[in-house]
Amino acid sequence: MDAGSFIRRKYRIWQQVQTAVELIYPPRCLGCGNLTESDFGLCGSCWRDTPFIGGAVCDSCGAPVPGNADGHRIECDDCLKTPRPWRDGRAALLYQARARSLVLSLKHGDRPELARPASRWMAQAGRALFRPDMLIAPVPLHWSRLIKRRYNQSALLAQHLGRETGLDVCPDLLERRVRTPVLDGKTAAERAETLSGVISPHAKRKRKMQGRDVLLVDDVMTSGATLAACTQACATAGANHIFVLVLARVAKDA
Ligand SMILES: [Zn+2]
Ligand SMILES: [Zn+2]
Repeated sequence: MDAGSFIRRKYRIWQQVQTAVELIYPPRCLGCGNLTESDFGLCGSCWRDTPFIGGAVCDSCGAPVPGNADGHRIECDDCLKTPRPWRDGRAALLYQARARSLVLSLKHGDRPELARPASRWMAQAGRALFRPDMLIAPVPLHWSRLIKRRYNQSALLAQHLGRETGLDVCPDLLERRVRTPVLDGKTAAERAETLSGVISPHAKRKRKMQGRDVLLVDDVMTSGATLAACTQACATAGANHIFVLVLARVAKDA
């Protein structure tokens, strides 16, 4: 049995287990807790309150842009002003309304079960990014934060995304050696300054990404400074093209 069919078989078994679990525990809406039929885990009303990104998007950061996609590269004003070090980026949701509360529940609310449906939305939004033999890696969390929160929400998203896409995941490809202060409220330049040299490739994982395309995964993109620092670390370690995929993008209304 080759590696591909082994993984597919494992995945089928895993899906069967999931189906059995769903028969015992009927699906509830992730937003409000009501019973739902939806495969995506949201009832109709929460679905309408969740700003999924569709239509034309910025190829660099995934933010919605006015107009229609015509096959040419599109970039939003932010990315034209601050070119991104990565190749392409996508986001599943706008960080607003119910999307904001879902992201916060995943991050601080001890609700790791949100990662599975979230990774499906990301697989859908990021379908233009996936490449054969791509390596998926999460934005790292400092160990002290990991202890406090019990899990790294980005690593959870990365793991589920690996299941959705069949691509390899390396949860500790990058590491955050220094604990950085919370970046909220800082300007883009301050964020970049705070993050320079903070994220580095894990010494034992460097070889894994050499010559390979890497997909960086995070829950939220605000200025993009953290993802830029991760991109830098991967490029230094010899990765080929680097892409980013996030659950939610903080962006102005489009
Ligand atoms: Zn609901
Ligand atoms: Zn953009």
